[in-house]
Amino acid sequence: MTRTVECPTCKAPVTWDDSSPERPFCSPRCRLIDLGAWAAEEHVIPGDEQEQDVFSEDIFKQ
Ligand SMILES: [Zn+2]
Repeated sequence: MTRTVECPTCKAPVTWDDSSPERPFCSPRCRLIDLGAWAAEEHVIPGDEQEQDVFSEDIFKQ
């Protein structure tokens, strides 16, 4: 029997076994997003820079 969970970040189905090393997240990226911006800064992922800028701007406006 295979158990499936929802990725907490993007709600994608994640198979709960050794084929999903990042479970309950579907990917390392979703895991970093959930951990928060401080973690993302330590683990810089190419292509995420622009998205993080937008995210910081949203926080600043609040
Ligand atoms: Zn995900």
